[in-house]
Amino acid sequence: LEVVRTIADLRSRVAGWRKHGARIGLVPTMGALHAGHASLIKCSAARADRTIVSIFVNPTQFSPQEDFATYPRDEDHDLDIIEREGGDLVFAPEILEVYREGHRTKVEVQGLGQTLEGEFRPHFFIGVATVVAKLLIQALPDVAIFGEKDYQQLCVIRQMAMDLDIPVEIVGAATIREQDGLAMSSRNRYLTAEERAIAPAIFDAISRAASRIAGGANPATAAAEAVGEVLSAGFQRVDYVAARDAETLREPVRGRPMRVLAAAWLGKARLIDNVAV
Ligand code: AMP
Repeated sequence: LEVVRTIADLRSRVAGWRKHGARIGLVPTMGALHAGHASLIKCSAARADRTIVSIFVNPTQFSPQEDFATYPRDEDHDLDIIEREGGDLVFAPEILEVYREGHRTKVEVQGLGQTLEGEFRPHFFIGVATVVAKLLIQALPDVAIFGEKDYQQLCVIRQMAMDLDIPVEIVGAATIREQDGLAMSSRNRYLTAEERAIAPAIFDAISRAASRIAGGANPATAAAEAVGEVLSAGFQRVDYVAARDAETLREPVRGRPMRVLAAAWLGKARLIDNVAV
């Protein structure tokens, strides 16, 4: 497994593969890899001849109050997982390789990137769309894999790639969960043992809301009930629980696919999750 740290080295490896007609997959990550990331790498390895995994804790998607400095980093552990799951190349650039002195450009996906997460973390999708656009242009993969765990991010990236005419297929992969339903996340390690026991309540609450909506309940009422359930389980604060159109993330319309999405605070961790209706 080779690790490259410059865009020039990444491009020269990709050019070599392309000469032999290889189909190339990209899995962008921020490292601290777990079984959720592993499933994305496996998904890419099944769809492409060569898989690139990027590891980059992207500073522009963190606000100054957020956990950029303390975000978990463990490259050796990450490389083991990538090798085991069939990755071929790791792109792990330094910050200055990605945001060179004098970098001025931001990518903003309006509407989709401004609701839900975008209301509570206004910087977030601008940072994500900018860095993913750069990664896609740097690696020029045929296919890029993103987790449904970050469902709104997947929608934002699809729209960005389409709007910017980046010739890549964006694939969404199912959320990988712990046995008790908690969606795997690098940030779950911020939870104390006591909080970890409470954490699955967010998945339970949105799952119940999704079944009630499927059974005919009003989506807004079902979402409001889920807020109450998450709070009474012991979460300190709920940023949102919302039932939305699964494609536009606007208000849901009966007869179209819907998604229930949530974000809530438990101790130092802000957990997000979502389920299909
Ligand atoms: P991150 O390293 O957290 O930025 O995530 C990198 C990629 O892994 C994103 O596409 C995430 O949606 C995806 N991912 C994170 N957690 C999970 C999970 N539990 N199941 C599936 N995909 C995930």
